[in-house]
Parts: sequence; C-alpha cells; structure tokens
Amino acid sequence: MREIRLYDTKTREVRPLEPREPGKVGIYACGPTVYARVHVGNARPFVVFSQLKRFLEHEGLQTTLVANITDINDKIYYAARAAGRPSDQLAREMTVHYVHDTGRLGLGRPDHEPLATESLPQIIDLISALVEGGHAYEADGDVYFRVRSLDGYGSLSRRDVDQMDQGEGVEGADRKEDPLDFALWKATKEGEDTSWDSPWGPGRPGWHIECSAMAEQYLGVDFDIHGGGIDLVFPHHENEAAQTLAGRGRPLARVWMHNGMLQLAEEKMSKSVGNIRSLGDVLDQVGGEVLVLYFSGGHYRQPIAFSDERLEEAVRAAARIREAGRRVVAGESPEELAPLCEAFFDALADDFNTARALAALYDWIREANRREGPVGASHLREMLDVLGLSSLLDSAGDGPPPDAMALAERRDAAREARDWAQADRLRDELRAMGWEVRDGPQGPELLPAG
Ligand SMILES: [Zn+2]
Repeated sequence: MREIRLYDTKTREVRPLEPREPGKVGIYACGPTVYARVHVGNARPFVVFSQLKRFLEHEGLQTTLVANITDINDKIYYAARAAGRPSDQLAREMTVHYVHDTGRLGLGRPDHEPLATESLPQIIDLISALVEGGHAYEADGDVYFRVRSLDGYGSLSRRDVDQMDQGEGVEGADRKEDPLDFALWKATKEGEDTSWDSPWGPGRPGWHIECSAMAEQYLGVDFDIHGGGIDLVFPHHENEAAQTLAGRGRPLARVWMHNGMLQLAEEKMSKSVGNIRSLGDVLDQVGGEVLVLYFSGGHYRQPIAFSDERLEEAVRAAARIREAGRRVVAGESPEELAPLCEAFFDALADDFNTARALAALYDWIREANRREGPVGASHLREMLDVLGLSSLLDSAGDGPPPDAMALAERRDAAREARDWAQADRLRDELRAMGWEVRDGPQGPELLPAG
C-alpha cells in the first residue's frame, strides 16, 4: 500500500497520514453559509475533499466525509432583511440551490451534511462544558470564549495573541472581559427573526462553535482531517480547535488541510467572467465535468486563476479525454502502460497533487494513442473514476455530452436573437470540444467533429 502524505497547516509540514483507527479516515470540511447562491470558488473545497475521499477509498481506506451547511449566521440575517424575507426561508432556499448546484459536479454527496439548525443540542452541550470548565463565561445572555484561559491559543494560525482581531467589531465589546474573546452564544437582538432556547436565554450560536459541535457529532474528537479554504485558518479554525481542546481535553483533528483561493483575472471582471461567477452559471456554461477538470488542473494548496481562457483549456482537455474514450475498448490495459497509471496514483499520494496526476493521465493517453490496435480502458477508467470523471468515458461513445448539448442550446438561442457573433463563438467552442453543429431539416444536430 502507498504511503499517503498530506501537508498539515498546523505543523507546516508534509506528514504521513496516520489514521486514528486503522483502515478508517474521517474528514470534516467546512461548507458554505447559505445566504446567497454559492460562488464558483465555493465549489473548490467541495471538489478537493470529494476527490480526496474517492482517492482514500481507492487506497482501501473507509472514508467518512462530513461537510456542514451553516444555516445560522449574521450574513443570513442581513441578506434576509435586505430582501424583506424570513431568514429561515432564505436559508432553506439557498440550501436547496447549493445541494442542486454542487450535485451537478457529478461527484456524489458527502456522507453527512449537517445543518446548524439541526445541531442545537450538541452545540449547547459543548458551550456548557466550556462554561463549566472556566473557559467561557456568560454576559447578559451572550456567552464568550475566554481566549487567554487556553495555553497555546494561536498555534494553528501562528499569530501573536496580542495582534489578533476576532473580526467581531464593536459587537459585544462592552460585555467581553477581553477584546480577544469571541462569541459562542449570542442573545437574540432586535430584528433577528429566529432564536433557540438555551441555559443562557433565547439566542443563537456563534459560527465557530457550530463546526466544533457538528464535527464531533459525526466524527468524534481527534479525527483525521479537518479541511476548508485557507481563508478560514483564522479566526474560524483557530477557534474551532480552541473550543474542542478546551471543552473536551483533546485536539479536534490530526491534520489541518487548506485549499487555496480562486482568483479572478482582473481585466476580465467587467466582461463575461464578471457575470458568471455563481457556480450555477459556470455549470451552465461548461458543465460539471469541465469544471471538475479545471479545478483538478491546479494543486489544491495553490491559488487557481479563474478566467475564460482557463475554462477553455479545461474544455479542450475534456475533449481529449473523450476522444481517447472513443478509441479504447473494454478490458485490461497493457502492462507497459502500468507505470503511468502508478505515477498518477503516486502523485495523489504525495500531498494530493491532482495537477501532476493529470499530467500522468495525459501521458497515458499519448502512449495509448501511439499503440497499434485497440487498447484496454481499465487504467484510464480507474484514474478518471478517482477524480469523479469516469462519465467522460461513458459519454464518449453515445452522442453529445450534456455540456455540449447545453452549448448547442445556447447557440440556438443566440441565432434566434440574431446574435451571430455569439452563435459563432459557441460553434467554435463546440468544435474545440469535438462536436460539429449541422443545421438539418429537424433543426440543429450535433455530430462528432473531424
Ligand atoms: Zn467551519
């Protein structure tokens, strides 16, 4: 079995994965706050941790992925008030959109997707333990974490305690013992239309305690991998780690794994990219397979540039894989190609380097194309399956894939609107994907190009 190594933000080093329980891995990845349609950048952690689960299972590790949905948060109250709507209704609607949009990535669902609104008993239990242990205190119906009561606070983000800002602004400033303290429970304020009963009166939980409680509920403490975007290291993850260590006496997680951010190309902001930033819109443009391939083209820890050019590259890459899928036949791949398949999985074992893994996959395709006679597909299917992209093979033989169909429909609409430039652009995009539009008597048809 391969040794799997991952970069741990806490120790700042690449370390071998040593599961708490042999053969089993638990992953908790922070999910979105559902106050609006999710941004395409929110899809990155969803893709990274879904693919990581698939890889760990390929390596024989039984993996449980928990990705929460934050449905109690200030942002939701603000957005609902601005829209003149009940906040719980807005959160429910955006949760449905999030599940639908991420579902279109074709990676399946996490094993558990807990909602904060369904985890109140666990949240209140953890806050109570913190109060009893002297690590938290009640003040006028709020409860705050007493940061200086915990030795080693700041060790994840490696910040100097005296330079920290919890980002809570003036809120609760007059009730905190120390400006460094952060809220675990907030008493209901005017204009907030949801609240829950607690030993400290009606209110609602702070954001950080929601995750500590939900992670513990499904994975226990000291679980294997805690993940999320690099922007969450402070204060969110620092505070999650502090709450669990102080309340339960053991660390929350063994490895802290953070993905880099999506970067929008500035000059393109005002044009198309500026208008397609929601995940749903990007999926309408290129489909789930292309978007997953786009994300897989960068190492998860690095920032990834988002632009039409980068999406086009992924469109062409998907076309190349589909083209290879049309040439291979069912059955075992040749033994001589095995080192390239091994290189693919070795790259994933080395801090989950999907970019290097994809390079090995393209090498495999190039070598397979050089061989005379049909080549068995088993390696290619095994590699694509781990990335959640085996549908590229399944769609290779039988007609145009959904992303090409979507483009063809948009081209039709552009022609109807007499937007010839847009129609031509979409035709070129289809050609880059390997499909030709023919306008026949029954309307436009998609045929394999070439
Ligand atoms: Zn979280």
